[in-house]
Amino acid sequence: GPVIEVRNLSKRYGNTVAVDGLTFTVRPGRVTGFLGPNGAGKSTTMRMMLDLDRPSGGQVRIDGMRYRQLSEPLRRVGALLDAGAVHPGRSAYHHLLWLAQSNRIPKARVREVLELVGLADVARKRVRGFSLGMGQRLGIAAALLGDPPVLLFDEPVNGLDPEGVLWIRHLMKGLAAEGRTVFVSSHLMSEMALTAAHLVVIGRGRLLADTTVDDFIAAH
Ligand code: ADP
Ligand code: ADP
Repeated sequence: GPVIEVRNLSKRYGNTVAVDGLTFTVRPGRVTGFLGPNGAGKSTTMRMMLDLDRPSGGQVRIDGMRYRQLSEPLRRVGALLDAGAVHPGRSAYHHLLWLAQSNRIPKARVREVLELVGLADVARKRVRGFSLGMGQRLGIAAALLGDPPVLLFDEPVNGLDPEGVLWIRHLMKGLAAEGRTVFVSSHLMSEMALTAAHLVVIGRGRLLADTTVDDFIAAH
C-alpha cells in the first residue's frame, strides 16, 4: 500500500496560504513527481513531511507514523531539500560521518556514498569551497546514507551540471526499480516526463492532478 500519506494538509504563513488542503498518497516502486510552478507549495509540503515545518491543518504519515516518530529516521527516509544545510567549515566526509554516527549508520557507508555521488576525491575539502553542483551531490549523498526505502528530493537537478542531471535521473529511476518510494519535486513538466511514472500536480497549494504521467500528457 501507500508509504506516504498526506491528508488534508494545510500551511499558512500569515495571510499567505502556502498549502491548501492537500490529500494524496505516494506508492513504492516508481518515481512520483511533485509538479507545480514556483511558489505552488512543494517545498513547504516536503518540509512538513519531514516535520521541519508544522502544519496549520491535516497530517503526513510515513509508514503510518510521523517523521519524528520514526526511530533512526535517516534509515527510513532520505531527503534532499535545499543544499544550504551543511556547516561550511566541515568537510564532506565529516558532515556525512556526523550524520552516520547520529543515526547508527556504519561508518563504512560514508565512503560508499561519497563514491556513489562522485565526491570521493574532494571528501576532505571544506564544503565552503564547493560549487552548487557539488553541494547538491553532497545533499544526495546524505539522503542515500541510511540506505532508506523512502526518498524525498526537492528540485534535485537545480544547480547540477549536465552530467549530474543525467546521473540523478538515472539514480532516481534505479532507486524506484529497487522498490523504493521516490518522491521528487520539479517546476518543469519536461523534467518530470523524463523521470517520473506518476504525478502529483499542485498549484497555489491545491491538488490539480494525481495521475500517471502518460494520462497527464494525454489529457493536456
Ligand atoms: P515551491 O516549493 O512550490 O516553490 P514553496 O513551498 O516554497 O513553493 O512556497 C509556497 C508559498 O509559501 C509561497 O508563496 C512562498 O512565498 C510561501 N512561503 C514559503 N515559505 C515561507 C516562509 N517561511 N514564510 C513565509 N512565506 C513562505
Ligand atoms: P578522522 O579525521 O575522523 O579522524 P580519519 O582520517 O582517521 O578520520 O579516518 C577515519 C576513517 O575514515 C578511516 O577508516 C578512513 O579510511 C576513512 N576515511 C578517511 N578519509 C576518507 C574519505 N575521504 N572518504 C571516505 N572515508 C575516508
